[in-house]
Amino acid sequence: MEKRHDVLSIRNLSSLATPEGFEPRSGVAQGRIRRVSGAAIRIEAGHITFAGTEEEFVRQFGEAPHPGETVVSGLGKTALPGFVDAHTHIPWSGFREGEFNDRLKGQTYAEIAASGGGIVSTVAATRAATLAHLTASVKSRLDLMLLHGTTCCEAKTGYGLQKEAELKQLRALVHGSEGHPVTVEMTALPGHEVPLECRGDAQQKAAYIDECCNEILPALAAEGARFVDVFCETGVFDLAESRRILSAGKSCGLVPRLHADELTPLGGAELAAEIGAISADHLLFITRAGIEAMARSGVIATLLPGTSVFLRMNRYAPARDLIAAGIPVAVATDCNPGSSYTESLPAVAFFATIGMGLTVEETLTAITLNAAASLGMADERGSIEPHKAGDVVLIDAPSLEHLVYHYGVNPVSDVVVNGRLVVSSGRRLL
Ligand SMILES: [Zn+2]
Repeated sequence: MEKRHDVLSIRNLSSLATPEGFEPRSGVAQGRIRRVSGAAIRIEAGHITFAGTEEEFVRQFGEAPHPGETVVSGLGKTALPGFVDAHTHIPWSGFREGEFNDRLKGQTYAEIAASGGGIVSTVAATRAATLAHLTASVKSRLDLMLLHGTTCCEAKTGYGLQKEAELKQLRALVHGSEGHPVTVEMTALPGHEVPLECRGDAQQKAAYIDECCNEILPALAAEGARFVDVFCETGVFDLAESRRILSAGKSCGLVPRLHADELTPLGGAELAAEIGAISADHLLFITRAGIEAMARSGVIATLLPGTSVFLRMNRYAPARDLIAAGIPVAVATDCNPGSSYTESLPAVAFFATIGMGLTVEETLTAITLNAAASLGMADERGSIEPHKAGDVVLIDAPSLEHLVYHYGVNPVSDVVVNGRLVVSSGRRLL
C-alpha cells in the first residue's frame, strides 16, 4: 500500500464544478452547485483534502510541488466529480443490432419478440457464453466507461434467469472488475424476465419465482451482490410478484431497487416507497400518486433518457415534476444490448438536458452525487470536497456547460480515481 501517502494535485484549472454534501440533493438544491474559476484540487492518501481557488492553494501549500507530489495540469480544463452510472446491465453476450434496424423499418417490439428477438435472445447468448468471454466483455465495457468519465457503476445480472447462469454473470462482474479503476456495485436481477422455459402456465411462473426467492437470490447475495432488482411491469412481474422477489432479497441482506412504471402505470413507484427501495428506475409512466409516495419516503428516481431515445418512445420520465416534488433525480445509461447500447454518461447527460429538460447543473448532480446516493455511497463519492474519495474527471473545456453543449464527442480528457491518474489526455495509463 505504498500509494497511501501519495499526493496528487490538479493545478491551474479553468474551473471546477461540483454538487456538495453527503446526502442526495433534491428540489432546487439539485441545481445548486459550487463553481470555482481558476481552481486547484489536492488529493492525499486517496482522499480530497483541498478544493478551491489556485490562489488559496498556493497560499496553503506554496507554489512549488512537494517531493513526491504528482501535479496534473488543469490548464484550459474543468474538473467535475467522477461520474457514477447507477443502472447498467453490462455482463451480457451477443448484440441486437438487427432488431435495432428492424424497428427502424417498422417492426414493433412485440413482433421482434415473437420472432425470437428481444431479451430472450440475449438470455440465450449469455447462457451459452463462457465465463472467460463474459469477463472479457465486462472488462472492455468498464474500460470504455472509464474513458468517458465513469469511476463507479452499478451492474446487474438478469440475462441468466437460472441459478448457474446468473452466478456466471455475477462472477464475470467480480473477475472483470478485479484491479480495474472502476468500482462496480452488483445487483441481483433474476426477476428481469420470466425465462422462456417457464412461460407455459401460471404454475411454471410461480415455480420460477420460488426458485428466485429460495435459491437464486441467496446464492447471488452470498457471492457479493449488494442490491436486488425486479422488472415490475405488466406482462412481466406484477406488483405482488415483484413485492415477493424484493422482500426475499431483503431477507438475504440485499437493498431493493426496481424497474418501475417503464411501459405502463402499474404502481412500481408506490411499491418502491412501500418496500423502502433506495431507487426506482425508468418511471416514464409514474402517476401523481407514485410521485407523492416516492417524495414521502425518500426514494431516489434514477432516470434513463437514453432508453427513451433508443426505443423511439416519444416520451421521457417527467423529470421536472419529480424535481418539483422534491425527489432526488439520478441519471444513468441503462447500458444493455437491446434498449440502450452506450457506456457514455456524457451522451446520456445530453438527452437528460435536451429530452427531459434538466438544467446542466441538475444533470451534473444527477450523474454524480445523486447517482452515488442511489448506490449508498454519497458519504464517500459523488462530489469534490474534503473527506470524499479522490475521484475527479477533467473535461477539456473551460466550463461545465461543455459537458453537454459540445455533444456527440467524448469531452473527458483525464480521470483520477482514488487519487491516481488513470486516464491522461484521453489515454489509459493504468
Ligand atoms: Zn434496466
